[in-house]
Amino acid sequence: MIKVAKFGGTSLADSQQFKKVHSIVKNSDERKYIVVSAPGKRFTDDNKITDLLYLTHAHVRYSVPYGSVLKIVEDRFKLIKEELNLKIDLDYEFKIIREELDNKCDEDYIVSRGEYLSAKLMADYLDCDFVDAKDLIFFNYDCSVDEEKTREKITEILGKSSKAIVPGFYGSYPDGSIKTFSRGGSDITGAIISSAIGADMYENWTDVSGFLIADPRIVDNPKQIEKITYEELRELSYMGASVLHDEAIFPVRQAGIPINIKNTNEPENPGTVIIRDDQANEEYAKEHIITGIAGKKNFSFFYVHKEHMANEVGILKKALQVFENRGISIDHVPSGIDSFTIVLPSESVDKVSHEIVEELKIKCRTENVQVYKNLSLIATVGIRMAYQPGISAKLFTALGNSDINIRMIDQGSSEINIIVGVEDKDFEDAIRAIYNAFVK
Ligand code: ADP
Ligand code: ASP
Ligand code: MG
Repeated sequence: MIKVAKFGGTSLADSQQFKKVHSIVKNSDERKYIVVSAPGKRFTDDNKITDLLYLTHAHVRYSVPYGSVLKIVEDRFKLIKEELNLKIDLDYEFKIIREELDNKCDEDYIVSRGEYLSAKLMADYLDCDFVDAKDLIFFNYDCSVDEEKTREKITEILGKSSKAIVPGFYGSYPDGSIKTFSRGGSDITGAIISSAIGADMYENWTDVSGFLIADPRIVDNPKQIEKITYEELRELSYMGASVLHDEAIFPVRQAGIPINIKNTNEPENPGTVIIRDDQANEEYAKEHIITGIAGKKNFSFFYVHKEHMANEVGILKKALQVFENRGISIDHVPSGIDSFTIVLPSESVDKVSHEIVEELKIKCRTENVQVYKNLSLIATVGIRMAYQPGISAKLFTALGNSDINIRMIDQGSSEINIIVGVEDKDFEDAIRAIYNAFVK
């Protein structure tokens, strides 16, 4: 049995957390490949190392002295080193980082140093191999992963090691320079290694006992999800349940490798097991009227209305082209008879939303185009939802009874979710209302 174990930022926030990881890894010979994130927050108002590194690079970009920010990062790593009595030469490591910063290194290089140093410390502590992710994960210049080369190098290099620590979050471009995944990307590193090495299990260790039915920062003590299908997990992760990066699902799903989400602070808890979509049998369905609720704030809705739209061929295509021409991707397009709404994250249109409205008016030949901002999307997910009558009614009643105005409804054709749009100010109340209606 071979397990890949990925430990997230909170699992490595300080020397106490390093100790817990040490005992989890030492506890089982099956945990052969360990992927680590950069140290996260130790307490609510603390900083994540990765955020501090982004800030360091911003100083360099604007030619502001970066010394004091980088010092906070250095002190955090040095404290862990001292408290664990490690040998690693951090003065040397930070000398190199400073040289690179003085040479105006890329942002990706500097922000990757959090995971790099975290892995160096952990390899020292566990007395096992450090394998740099730049030698294992390869990107093409279009930012996609070069799957063939990555698989080849992972099997070649990790195949030789009986216990290896790999930094998450980054890899390299063909010219050897560092390229990171998007935020939370260490989950993807773990998934790619699991798939390439043919692991029997991908363990994802975090600070909650598995996937919970709703975000614990919104609902008090939400129930734990024991089992969930890849498909449901993908929907929930994509819709904002940040436990696992949504892109981390593909490599393991393709290879049929189960994922187990576990809590570093409560290792004996079985956590959540992710099962194949075809394993969601009748028994599973009985326990899962809905599987989970997740959502994200800060969406913009472009509403286009035109009389007799239903009879006009190609109008939607013209509208979508406005976004395509600007390289902006779209999340949802719910439609009515003579109207449709284009829904997407505000950050991708913030500076150009008024221009887009004018372009839509011209392309669709209607004056009736509006943009609405500060909206949230909430997905209620369940693989068997489509087979249970009355789910939508129950959902809308719950929101209505809490005086929440529904601004959009979208049920994907796969019918494993119902997505509602509400105002940002109602976001938390809406999630609590749905949770109380279905789970409590
Ligand atoms: P890590 O640092 O281990 O990668 P993350 O912060 O990325 O951890 O993910 C874990 C966090 O995800 C939890 O602390 C919790 O606040 C948040 N979270 C959001 N939605 C959920 C959910 N449905 N179930 C569990 N945790 C959730
Ligand atoms: N440290 C990186 C981040 O904060 C990657 C990760 O934690 O997965 O986004
Ligand atoms: Mg994470």
